[in-house]
Amino acid sequence: MSILSERPEVVEPPLTPEQIATVCSILDQKSPQDILRWAVAEFFPYLTMATAFGPEGNCIIHMLAEIEPRVHIFNLETGYQFKETLELRERIKERYGIAVEYVRPDMTVAEYEQEHGGPLHPHRPDQCCHNRKIVPLRRAVQGYRAWISAIRKDQTADRGQASVVQWDPKFQLVKVNPLLYWTKSDVWKFILDHDVPYNPLHDQGYPSIGCWPCTRAVQNGEDDRAGRWAGSMKKECGLHVIEHQGGSGI
Ligand code: SF4
Repeated sequence: MSILSERPEVVEPPLTPEQIATVCSILDQKSPQDILRWAVAEFFPYLTMATAFGPEGNCIIHMLAEIEPRVHIFNLETGYQFKETLELRERIKERYGIAVEYVRPDMTVAEYEQEHGGPLHPHRPDQCCHNRKIVPLRRAVQGYRAWISAIRKDQTADRGQASVVQWDPKFQLVKVNPLLYWTKSDVWKFILDHDVPYNPLHDQGYPSIGCWPCTRAVQNGEDDRAGRWAGSMKKECGLHVIEHQGGSGI
């Protein structure tokens, strides 16, 4: 039986915008561990986390292993991930005893490409991300009240507008961003200090890793996310782009 099916059915409403604003003012300068402790106390077991096994997410997994290892964590297994990423899932399981759940689209890559006459990622990446990430994500987070994300403010302009705790209208969840104020240096210092597992592709010129068809190594001087959907205007898969709405708490 999966963790999802074990989760209680009754779900209370999330925090009000006023409560989120109050919590933000209290947690804004707290440590990631303090923010995670608050999230666990407030939402567990209705607390989940999506991870692509990036360095930031792995830091949070390390912290959760000490704070509450039963927090549900899942990976959007699009079928296009690097083998190094899939192997990292196993290394994390060995290290922490945390089995990150794979959440998959309805169709395998073969079925999907057959239906569309070939892969969509070269010419319709938004559609491909929608079908293979967003739709499965919506299904995976049903019944949860909050999700943890590993975004940092300095990664993209949109992420720069995020708050430590915010309402995510797209997925109808409270979103908790414990590493929001960390820099890349903070992340790697934590990884090295605590021997946190990380994707070996980071040592081969891939600072940001998604699906293999849409990720390339970056050159010296390029932005860390320059290797994601290189050559297109696309910068995000859509998981962390908040649709700004009145009273959203961000
Ligand atoms: S990152 Fe590329 S391959 Fe992965 S879901 Fe998005 S478009 Fe498809």
